[in-house]
Amino acid sequence: MGECMQRTILLQNQKIEYTLNASARSRRMRLAVYRGGRFVVSVPKRMPERLIEKFLLEKADWILAKIASMRLLAPVESQPISKLELKRLKVVALELVHRRLEYFNQYYQFTYNTVTIRNQKTRWGSCSRQGNINFNYKLAILPARLADYVVVHELCHLREMNHSQKFWDLVAKTFPDHKALRRDLRKNHLGPA
Ligand SMILES: [Zn+2]
Repeated sequence: MGECMQRTILLQNQKIEYTLNASARSRRMRLAVYRGGRFVVSVPKRMPERLIEKFLLEKADWILAKIASMRLLAPVESQPISKLELKRLKVVALELVHRRLEYFNQYYQFTYNTVTIRNQKTRWGSCSRQGNINFNYKLAILPARLADYVVVHELCHLREMNHSQKFWDLVAKTFPDHKALRRDLRKNHLGPA
């Protein structure tokens, strides 16, 4: 049987509550963040408090970003994410899209200008004639394959500004199953790209 205690810790000036679960069965420290943002830290029995706190401080970036994403995934009745959490998810999303754009563009070799992250209600991304690409910050919490699909979708709009057959042929070079991916985006998430 484990022992559960409610704790708080200050991570980057944010008071974070967590459940500390000390159990003889735990071999090492484990962090888990659940839908809604509930944060559970499992540790071996009798682990020194200062080691636990040191570990949490080291993992602060990961913990805060994870809590922000899991709160976003929470049911509608829970409180909305804070400005700080939004900022954090935007940083995560921007890093993600830069990395994946670069990766997929090794193949496509298109030219783009600025890449920005926005708080859009209904779109995953958009692309302008000037070659500027916008992405929704919620990309940070999409399953990796769906986020990649959105990135490739917008990347291909640099060449084809419409949803013509030519456009889908370009997308299909990376995602032959783009129809299913698009359906999944629409059904389970925000809306179409
Ligand atoms: Zn499109």
